[in-house]
Amino acid sequence: MEIEKVVTERLNYSENNKEHENQTKEIGAEPKRQQETAKSEQVGLQHHRVTHDCSPRKVIGRVKKGQDDLEIVKREEWGARPPNATTNLTAPQPLVVIHHTNWDSCWTQEQCKAEVRKVQDFHMDVREWWDIGYNFLVGEDGRAYEGRGWTAQGAHAKGYNGRSIGICVMGTFMDAAPNIAALRTLQKIITYGVTQGFIDFNYTLYGHRQTGATDCPGDAFYDLIRNDSHWKQNPNFDAENAY
Ligand SMILES: [Zn+2]
Repeated sequence: MEIEKVVTERLNYSENNKEHENQTKEIGAEPKRQQETAKSEQVGLQHHRVTHDCSPRKVIGRVKKGQDDLEIVKREEWGARPPNATTNLTAPQPLVVIHHTNWDSCWTQEQCKAEVRKVQDFHMDVREWWDIGYNFLVGEDGRAYEGRGWTAQGAHAKGYNGRSIGICVMGTFMDAAPNIAALRTLQKIITYGVTQGFIDFNYTLYGHRQTGATDCPGDAFYDLIRNDSHWKQNPNFDAENAY
C-alpha cells in the first residue's frame, strides 16, 4: 500500500509540485551518503578560546561582539548557482521550521561553503527543485549561510513553505545536538529575522517532523527545540495522513 501510494505520487507530480515536494527523507537518507556522527563536543572546543583575562575592556568588547557577530555568508560568497525560478515570500513569517541535513557536519568556512554547494547541487540536480531548499543554513563553524534568503519561498516543509522560514543546521543530529556555535547562530539569525521584520515577533518554532513524516531535525536536536519558548505543538499536523 505504501509503495503504491509513493509511486502514484511520483507519477502525479508536476514540475511545480516537484519544487514543493515533501522531503520524506533528508538529503543523507540515501544509503550511499555517509552519515557522520556529530562531533560537536570535541570540535566545538576549537571555536572557543578560553581566556582568564576579565579586565573590563575585554569583557565589554566581548559582549559587544556577542551582539554583533552574526555572520551571514552570502550566496555569491559560497558560490551559489542561480535559482531556476523563485516565488516571493511575504513578510513577516509566522513560522520557523528547523531542519538538519542528515548529512555531513562542517567546522570551517571552507568546509561549510562546500557543504552548502553540495546540498544545492543535490536539491537542484536530484530533487529537481528550483534552488537549494532552505532559506538559510547554519554550520558548526558558527556562520549562517544564505539559501533562498528572507524573501523567496523555500522548499523544505510541504504545506508550510509559504508561511515559514526554513533553517537547516548542517549535520546529523540524531544522537548529539549541534554544537554551541551552531545553536547560538541559529538563535541569532532568528532574532535578526524578527528585528528586520521577516519573522513575526510571536513566531512559532517547529521541527520539520511536526510537518511531515520525517526524523528531521534528529532526535537530539528536536529535544532542544521542544524546550524553546517559541516551540508549540502543531495542532494541524496529522502524522497518519501526512502523505
Ligand atoms: Zn527537514
